[in-house]
Amino acid sequence: MQRFKHYTIPVFTPEMACPFQCVFCNQQKISGHTQSPDFQEVTHTIQTYLNSFKAGERHVEVGFFGGTFTGIPTDIQENYLKTVQPFLDSGEVQGIRLSTRPDYINEEVLARLKKYRVSTIELGAQSLDDAVLRAARRGHTVKQVEEAARLIRAAGFDLGLQMMIGLPGDTLEKAMATAQKIIDLGASNTRIYPTLVIKETVLYKWYRQGKYKPLLLEEAVAWAKQLLLKFEKAGVRVIRLGLHPSRGLLDGSEWVAGPFHPSFRELVLTEIWYDLLVTEFRINNGTSGRLHQKIEIFVSPPEINYAIGYGGKNKKRLLEHFREVKFTPHAVLSGRNFKVKRYV
Ligand code: SF4
Repeated sequence: MQRFKHYTIPVFTPEMACPFQCVFCNQQKISGHTQSPDFQEVTHTIQTYLNSFKAGERHVEVGFFGGTFTGIPTDIQENYLKTVQPFLDSGEVQGIRLSTRPDYINEEVLARLKKYRVSTIELGAQSLDDAVLRAARRGHTVKQVEEAARLIRAAGFDLGLQMMIGLPGDTLEKAMATAQKIIDLGASNTRIYPTLVIKETVLYKWYRQGKYKPLLLEEAVAWAKQLLLKFEKAGVRVIRLGLHPSRGLLDGSEWVAGPFHPSFRELVLTEIWYDLLVTEFRINNGTSGRLHQKIEIFVSPPEINYAIGYGGKNKKRLLEHFREVKFTPHAVLSGRNFKVKRYV
């Protein structure tokens, strides 16, 4: 087990021209216009983050997010990557990660990324089902994802594959099959994003016309629960579950419909814990006739909030069956192992 803490310093590359129009995305096509990036600011950002990290064993990566990195002009890519080199030399930063599209990967691109010591490449795969990719107008096929993944792995990079759930035509079976392919392609990490209806997108038009129905929040949580457990079992790190709660999502100025929740991951972990508690206490529908009992559940400290549940949901559910329910942190326990004490 890794004992050091992972940090990613996010650097958001300016919006670059995107020749695609994926149905869920509202990025405007910016014909050839690129904002001149301020490389000094990137250096300053990295330094500021480094100063804020706690002392101790850590693994720090600089992550270039926000666009199709390998689609931006080569000289700008190189200038970004050059800003990180002194931090890699000094040992303050251990790696560089970036995200891009599968069809923007080839051997020449990978040779350039290798030269600047990029360690992880994340591909926005979104689905590994061709019908879903076509409906989302992604502009690439499953085969292209597979080929890009093979090249990335063969060149010795760490591979990340991001997926979305609830795209038009998606089903739980297709999402699970996508997860299996992500595992089979050798990804070490993934991100799971529920599809949301954002203003000024094709999906928004379809939603208003009644042609697209987003997942309900409970459905998205139930799908994500199964996916998370599958990835955990395969040793694939799920580094993000749910969209980052940007201002436009929180205040509803961008988000129209779909399973958005600022604490989506916590909702998923709450349900995973509830399943464990249901099994332990053999709770079925209705009360279990043990309302006279008091129970104490010992849980490892990092898991205790998920065991209690988002907003105390699991505790409330257990209180329908027991007189008193107490969760106690226990440092000797790890992962989702727990112990129970019953008092009459
Ligand atoms: S999701 Fe990515 S590739 Fe698709 S339109 Fe948006 S920026 Fe372009």
